[in-house]
Amino acid sequence: MFNRRHIMSLLGLAGAAGVVASKSADASESAAGNTAHELAEAIESMPVLDVHSHGFPALAPVTEEIFLETLALSAWMLDAYFPAEPGQTQTVYEQWRAAGPEERARLDHKYGIQKRFDEVVFQMRSTTFVEALTKEMATFFRCKPTLKDVIAARNEYTKGDFWRYVNDLFGSAKLEGALVQGSLGAWTMPEPKQADFKRSLRMKVYDVATAGAYGIIDKDIPFADLVSGNREQLRRRAKEQGAVAFKSGIVKQTGADVEPVTAAQAEQAWEQWRKLPAADKTRVWNREWRPAFWKTLQDFIVWETCAVAYELDIPLHIHAGNGEGQDKISTHYPYKLENVVRYPVDFPQKPVQIVLLHAGFPHHTEAAYMSHIFPNVWYDMSVMAPFVNRGLYQRLLETFETAPLSKVMYGSDAYHVPEFFYLGAKWAKKHVAKALAVLVDDGVLTKDDAVRYARMILADNARRLHKLNGT
Ligand SMILES: [Zn+2]
Repeated sequence: MFNRRHIMSLLGLAGAAGVVASKSADASESAAGNTAHELAEAIESMPVLDVHSHGFPALAPVTEEIFLETLALSAWMLDAYFPAEPGQTQTVYEQWRAAGPEERARLDHKYGIQKRFDEVVFQMRSTTFVEALTKEMATFFRCKPTLKDVIAARNEYTKGDFWRYVNDLFGSAKLEGALVQGSLGAWTMPEPKQADFKRSLRMKVYDVATAGAYGIIDKDIPFADLVSGNREQLRRRAKEQGAVAFKSGIVKQTGADVEPVTAAQAEQAWEQWRKLPAADKTRVWNREWRPAFWKTLQDFIVWETCAVAYELDIPLHIHAGNGEGQDKISTHYPYKLENVVRYPVDFPQKPVQIVLLHAGFPHHTEAAYMSHIFPNVWYDMSVMAPFVNRGLYQRLLETFETAPLSKVMYGSDAYHVPEFFYLGAKWAKKHVAKALAVLVDDGVLTKDDAVRYARMILADNARRLHKLNGT
């Protein structure tokens, strides 16, 4: 039986033990802080190779609103809310954006576009991503940490020479190279010409060729010509034009659940597609209509791309996870890509090197696990970096639980504006350091191991996979 005194003494002891425990927690926290700090310093000067990004045109000067709209994935839905009127090629939203004050007022009166636009901008402004961006860019510009001041400083810096600003920005993040898929079509801006884009930049730009039989699939040709034309186009892009990888957007087009397709099924699907009136084809392209034969045809083109990727030993990048509002995002789970990874599903399988883009985020643990069990699967952290800013190191720690560190690659999925590239590189370095520091403090890695792995994640893994000789 405890008496009151005994209980008090136990409480006292418990209190003392509590103090000791919290002191040691403080000590280990600051030790972790020290390791992270040391690693961050070692990693800061490392070169970065971005494994997935998109070209962008010069956008300057900008207003706060246009800058936010340009970053906001939610703004992509405005085309769906205000689609093209019959007989028009531009959407009503595009018309409104390009219009002078009078025409804009007319369209606004009819459709109420400004109200929707303002709402998208307001919501984007209220994200932690934009809040963190504002502080980081204010550090670069040495201005007050408000978006208003950041945009003013940006407009001042870009006066006269937009690309000088871009090169300064990239230089300061030690961004030495990027694999660039040019075909995002900078959405509300003119599509940048890849050659001009390359010429404007000091960093090395490596081409990624978009798979999907673009430029061929709309032709009125026999099925055999579609097959040979697509294969020839892919070979030419890789062998003559120097593309270092193919990129498939199948997940966005018709979903990740790619099924085996026989040549006879593909030919039948091709004939159904081929005879569609142009207006219906446009609806399919705009993802307003998703007929079954379109999925069959798209799945077939993925298998064809796998065949050429295997033949040329060139990696195939596949969009996985996330997406925009017009995608079928409920099929974006990385595990749903298992058929493609097992190309050609029947035995014997052929190991096409598959890069799961965007970490499959928010299903990053699925992408990480796939890179653990499949020798031919690689992991790219783009989108997760830089959209997940404060907690990125926690996602990376979960990734490192299964993904070989030799398969994790830095990427940003930067689009539309150069700041995206900059933030991705800066934050990835910070969070790779933070995550590796935890592993050092847990005794899993030595500091030397951590520095070596950081170098691999930030550039060398992507170089090795794509056979690049330095950036
Ligand atoms: Zn992308």
